[in-house]
Formats: sequence, structure tokens, C-alpha cells
Amino acid sequence: MKIEIRQIKPEGSEFNFSKSADELEISAEGVKFPSPIEVDVTAILTGDEIICQGEAYTEVEIECSRCLEIFDLLVKAHLQFVVQMLDTTKELTSDNEDFEVIPKTQTSLDISQRVREGILLALPLKPLCSEDCKGLCPMCGINLNESECDCLPDKTDERWDALKKLFDNQ
Ligand SMILES: [Zn+2]
Ligand SMILES: [Zn+2]
Repeated sequence: MKIEIRQIKPEGSEFNFSKSADELEISAEGVKFPSPIEVDVTAILTGDEIICQGEAYTEVEIECSRCLEIFDLLVKAHLQFVVQMLDTTKELTSDNEDFEVIPKTQTSLDISQRVREGILLALPLKPLCSEDCKGLCPMCGINLNESECDCLPDKTDERWDALKKLFDNQ
């Protein structure tokens, strides 16, 4: 995913990319990437600086942390960074990841790494198929979104609430 610097117009140019997770070397445990990673970035050239802003998104198949069902989730990462072009031929590094410095002789910006990190960071730590997913019964393991069981007959019992809370927090 390379932005050709000479193609950037001062008033801003849009760049679109689409690549598979494999091509971008994106992988995460328990997550499938059946669709390409789409990227829309606008780059603006002002003097010696390039201001880039946009987003990367894709739909993943991910496991619900409560009921363990696989569901589709739209994952979106915001991209925003500034690149400063300097009169130098030295290898340049910047501590600030939102501020990149490159030699003026460089002809393109590879944003693959930013897209990879953005998508991985946008993956939820505790994915939920729905906000009110009932999860699995802690006793018999049945999916409580699909059916009911008799393990704990009085579900309004306070002790059950406490147990459920404990289970949810795991
Ligand atoms: Zn669920
Ligand atoms: Zn049960």
C-alpha cells in the first residue's frame, strides 16, 4: 500500500487500497479475515509536509467471548499522521509514530505497517455478538441465547445474579 508522493496534489488527493489480510500479513488468534482490508486515505501536500488522514476497515469473523458463537464484525481503524520531508540522505527515524520524517528523495510512502497495526488494535479484546448476549450456562454449557435450561430455575435470584456477574467478568 504505497502512496506515490508525486501524485499528491496540494489541495489533497485520495488514495484507495484493497488488499487481503494475507498480503498485509495481518493475523490474529480466533479471527478470520474473509474480506479484503479496504483503505481510504486523503493526503495533502503543504510545503515540506504531507498530512494523511483516512481509515482502514474490513469485516472479520470473530468469536463471541460470552457464547463462543462466530459472528461478523466490522472493524475500523482511523489513520492520521504527518510526514515531513527533509533535505537529507541520512536514514531517519522518529519516536512519534504520528509524525514521520523521510528524505526528500523518497518517492513513496508505504502505509502497510500503519494499516496492519491499526486493524489489529481495532479488534475488540472481548468481542460480543450483541450487547445483551446471554452467554453460556455456567452449569450445563448450553447457549442461553438459543435455549433455556433448568440448571438455575429462579433466574431472578440474587445469588444467580452474583454468579452471573462473576461469570461475565471472566
Ligand atoms: Zn454471544
Ligand atoms: Zn444450564
